[in-house]
Amino acid sequence: MPRWDASLVWFRRDLRDFDHAALSHALRQSRKVYCVFIFDTDILDELRGETPTLTRDRRLAFIHASIIELNTALRPMGSTLIVLHARACEAIPELAAALQVDAVFANHDYEPRAIVRDALVADKLKAAGRQWLSVKDQVIFEKDEVLTLSGKPFSVFTPYKNAWLKKLYADENSENAFADIAPYPVAAYSDHFALPDQANSALTKTIPSLEEMGFAEVDLSALPIRAGMSGGAALLDEFSARMSCYDSTRDFPALDSTSRLSVHLRFGTVSIRSLAQRAVDAIRLGEGGSGTAIWLSELIWRDFYFMILHHHPHVAERAFKPAFDAIEWEQGDATQTLFDAWCKGKTGYPLVDAAMMQLNQTGFMHNRLRMVTASFLIKDLGISWRLGEHYFARQLNDFDLAANNGGWQWAASSGCDAQPYFRIFNPVTQS
Ligand code: FAD
Repeated sequence: MPRWDASLVWFRRDLRDFDHAALSHALRQSRKVYCVFIFDTDILDELRGETPTLTRDRRLAFIHASIIELNTALRPMGSTLIVLHARACEAIPELAAALQVDAVFANHDYEPRAIVRDALVADKLKAAGRQWLSVKDQVIFEKDEVLTLSGKPFSVFTPYKNAWLKKLYADENSENAFADIAPYPVAAYSDHFALPDQANSALTKTIPSLEEMGFAEVDLSALPIRAGMSGGAALLDEFSARMSCYDSTRDFPALDSTSRLSVHLRFGTVSIRSLAQRAVDAIRLGEGGSGTAIWLSELIWRDFYFMILHHHPHVAERAFKPAFDAIEWEQGDATQTLFDAWCKGKTGYPLVDAAMMQLNQTGFMHNRLRMVTASFLIKDLGISWRLGEHYFARQLNDFDLAANNGGWQWAASSGCDAQPYFRIFNPVTQS
């Protein structure tokens, strides 16, 4: 017997119809399941600002294309996505009431603003006698799942990674082996998908266009970016063929050999479990070469920074190591001119400038170049890492508060397990 008569699944940074924790839980526990995505005006209005013309935003275009693909994929399973352009914190409780659902399911979001929004939604639902059910999906291990032997959160990566791997491989030879990276089934429960009734059928008629929301179309294929689950799957397949030599190629931006999956991880058009599973399978079959374990470590860095943000939310505003907040950064007109030159890729250092131009034009930058450009801004120009962090946050397609903040604080030497303060990437020898 299902636990709930009707539930609503709220898609956010998990734009896929497979291996989806919230969707899987909702389908298993409910007789009827509706699906919604909201273009949240609290976020979009900030992106738009006061500008009277259409705003160009690559990330929004990526989300829009991914939503269209997701909706198309849900239809054969008997579902359709309700897509609204509204204030999410108001629209979700209203929609839950209109559809008369008992529960709203979503995947955890670890960013401070999202936590506040979700708490507000949960309160409103509770006041109306409905449940808010949020589950882990976008990381393998979260919050307190990987701790030191004394039960404290780690602040150094290597011991965290070792404990993370130990936990993943814990039941390697048992029936329950690798349960943490097993997929959450969706298609198997698809008979629980439901469409809104006649009174609410208008909700599923259209998906708002970018233009209707005040944004311009973006030719993603020219960048080139392939959106949606199909884009993520294609990149994963391509990358799988070169994963085994990731260790020897990953530090050379010109080789462009990394997976480029970060934007798909950001918006959940791939599942983190399927990526980890791909790596673990290759390692266990002896096909991982020397590169696959290193790539898996990068996925562990991602979990690490989410865990750091959870336990040390102050990093979103200040240095992880408080002493570093006392640094007096360069200020004034000359500094502003240098900062503008850095943003535009006009510093005169070819590697820095090429990297910044790539960022501005495509929204992507290779990891090594993120380190070089960040180091240049902070340690050569003496400009606060917070300014660089904000600039990256606006430009990066894969912008993720936890990883971006972690990367900037690493470069600034102010973060947990950061590079030592005296290490400076030389932008000439790095070229
Ligand atoms: P791959 O090399 O193929 O790695 C696979 C995945 O592992 C990535 O997609 C990413 O999800 C994860 N990963 C790799 N390196 C890191 C890392 N150091 N920290 C956390 N996760 C990692 N990554 C983001 O996803 N969003 C950001 O906003 C972001 N900002 C950064 C800012 C700075 C200053 C630095 C130094 C790094 C930043 N990174 C960020 C980490 C890293 O540069 C990107 O994840 C990576 O370049 C994305 O390319 P890829 O998908 O080809 O990565």
